[in-house]
Amino acid sequence: MFGRGLIKGLRTTWHLGLGKAITEQYPERRPKLPPAFHGSLSLDPQKCNACGLCARACPNNVIIVDSERGEDKKRYLSAYTVKLGQCLFCGLCVESCPRGALHWLPDFELACYRFKDTEHVLYKRNPEGEVSKGA
Ligand code: SF4
Ligand code: SF4
Repeated sequence: MFGRGLIKGLRTTWHLGLGKAITEQYPERRPKLPPAFHGSLSLDPQKCNACGLCARACPNNVIIVDSERGEDKKRYLSAYTVKLGQCLFCGLCVESCPRGALHWLPDFELACYRFKDTEHVLYKRNPEGEVSKGA
């Protein structure tokens, strides 16, 4: 039918002006994200045993797990880095962790000016004490 697209467009404009809002007033109003939303990654260093399974499961080599042996010959996590700029947000790393140490955060404002800022240090141990940095 001639003019069908025009009528459809006008209906949308009508909704925007008077009817039920179909847009979100971001950033004044925050969107309600679904529970399974994949934002940035978060690590619980108390649960992580530096096994490296998450890094091996990652198809894009995003995760770097650094570890060292303690006096008891056990392996301890010394640093955990995620190069989020290369991440596919597939979730294979989270699924592969046998200790439930890796989680998704419900955040999405991850844009930055420099590519190197997409590298997130989720955990780093220094000589003065443990430093845990969120994504
Ligand atoms: S979500 Fe996928 S691409 Fe991103 S770090 Fe995990 S396994 Fe790698
Ligand atoms: S798979 Fe889990 S426990 Fe193993 S290094 Fe990754 S986050 Fe840590």
